[in-house]
Amino acid sequence: MEKKFYGLPELPYGYKDLEPYISEEQLKIHHDKHHQAYVDGANALLKKFDERGAGEEFDLKAVSKELSFHVGGFTLHKLFWANMGPAEKCGGEPTGLIAEYIEKDFGSFERFKKEFTQTAVSTEGSGWAALTLCRGTDRIFIMQIEKHNVNAVPGFRLMMVLDVWEHAYYLDYQNRRPEFVEAFWNLVNWDEVNRRMKVWLDSPL
Ligand code: MN
Repeated sequence: MEKKFYGLPELPYGYKDLEPYISEEQLKIHHDKHHQAYVDGANALLKKFDERGAGEEFDLKAVSKELSFHVGGFTLHKLFWANMGPAEKCGGEPTGLIAEYIEKDFGSFERFKKEFTQTAVSTEGSGWAALTLCRGTDRIFIMQIEKHNVNAVPGFRLMMVLDVWEHAYYLDYQNRRPEFVEAFWNLVNWDEVNRRMKVWLDSPL
């Protein structure tokens, strides 16, 4: 079998399509430079695995940590692009499955939005706010992921993520992260969130 590597996924829309909330310049640098860096970082580690010699000492503790960081970064960005879309078609209140789960686990969209926003704004340094779904309890949870990997729970599947690394917003909002988080709500692609939920709920455990 041939060995595979990571590749930078294309955006599901044009670089200008998230304006005025995310500028073309900001989206381009975020996708082409920052996301690409995680693709390169992950692939460099895969090459290390491929090229290690027989009997060679391999620091698996260090490699595991680096791999979870780079692959985490790769995966989260891929999902982040997919769970946004042009404001004309996205944002607003959710419908379908996700609306039912929000009602069950949060009581109202207003409360969900407030808590997700707080999670994103209060992330120390670099990280993500993530909506996850636990099949074991059939609950949705808002999680705060530090960097790209810390606090991620094995078994909680990611449904929607928001990047609050400074590189996600510094050109458009400088240090005003709360304004960027507020802008994000105009871009949420709820259809994609519903699609992911359905796939996860329909898959065998
Ligand atoms: Mn990012």
